[in-house]
Amino acid sequence: MTTYFDHDPELPAGFQDADILQAQYEAESRAAAASRAAGICNHGMRLGRRIPAFYSAEEIAEDLAQGHFANRGGFTGTQDEIPEGHSLCLECGEIVPARILDR
Ligand SMILES: [Zn+2]
Repeated sequence: MTTYFDHDPELPAGFQDADILQAQYEAESRAAAASRAAGICNHGMRLGRRIPAFYSAEEIAEDLAQGHFANRGGFTGTQDEIPEGHSLCLECGEIVPARILDR
């Protein structure tokens, strides 16, 4: 489905909804690139901490082995061993702050 934006003469300086969305996407992209450049994982496949653990260490290891970066973080624990306030990236195996994408 194609989305068309209407021309809105009341927006300032001739900017339209598409211009505002484009600026937002570019800002989000710059934030993601900056965190990647700082060595912070910003993949989207995450597993959160849970007590008692729902997934065993073997199940997590199996998921990590299927990630694009095959557990470069070296995580070998169970779900309840993920530190509080953090999540485990299932793409690369790094422990990351749980809400890094919301900053
Ligand atoms: Zn990752």
